[in-house]
Amino acid sequence: MPRHIRIVLVEPSHPGNIGAAARAMRTMCLDTLVLVRPARFPDAEANARASGALDVLRRARAVTTLDEALQGCALVAGTSARRRDLGPPAITPRACAARLCDAPPDVDVALLFGRERTGLTNEELERCHLLVHIPANPEYSSLNLAAAVQILAYELLLARGTAPVATDGDALPANVEEMEGLYAHLESAAITSGFLDPQQPKHLMRRLRRLFNRAQPDPREINILRGLLTALLRARHG
Ligand code: SAH
Repeated sequence: MPRHIRIVLVEPSHPGNIGAAARAMRTMCLDTLVLVRPARFPDAEANARASGALDVLRRARAVTTLDEALQGCALVAGTSARRRDLGPPAITPRACAARLCDAPPDVDVALLFGRERTGLTNEELERCHLLVHIPANPEYSSLNLAAAVQILAYELLLARGTAPVATDGDALPANVEEMEGLYAHLESAAITSGFLDPQQPKHLMRRLRRLFNRAQPDPREINILRGLLTALLRARHG
């Protein structure tokens, strides 16, 4: 995993697209935005379109050359709405995300987006190690700039393996100790209740582990389950 994944917009002309790109990045846990010669920045329209992602805009760097934007980057991927004859063969956003995320931990990588009207120049694309094309309608393959950023940012989120687990609220999944506590409790309840014969355990605990590892319960859910086990055993013996 690289240190930073830079999103670089080359000469964006609409501040609204800058704001929408910042929002797309924020929703996918990216925060390093570099703008090469933006037509207008900072700008009220960019702020409005960024919605809750103002921090990405505030930290964004505006520079005057592509060299500055790419300084220190070990791997550069360029996006193109059209098939190009020059440069490397185009790969999909998924393959590109995997390649970028494979970079060593001490380097920066960059993902380049072009101008709304004309995209990236051939010269700019020649600076790229990878060329990415989002598969689209061959008769109309040009996405809005921020929409293209959204798709690549989403693929990067999946490739980083940091897709948030869907749990109640924002709770993190339980840690290893809490899970082990649950398994020990389940096993002793299964034995005490007569459901599990310790002389012939078969695969019960392995199957229960598989079930709860798949569910990734949070600590509160673990407490509910353990509270329920305690109450059931107490009722049985009480
Ligand atoms: N007419 C321009 C379109 C530019 S769209 C051209 O042909 O290049 C603005 C930017 O959005 C592009 O430079 C690219 O960064 C991104 N983009 C739009 N559609 C894309 C697609 N299908 N695949 C990859 N990037 C795309």
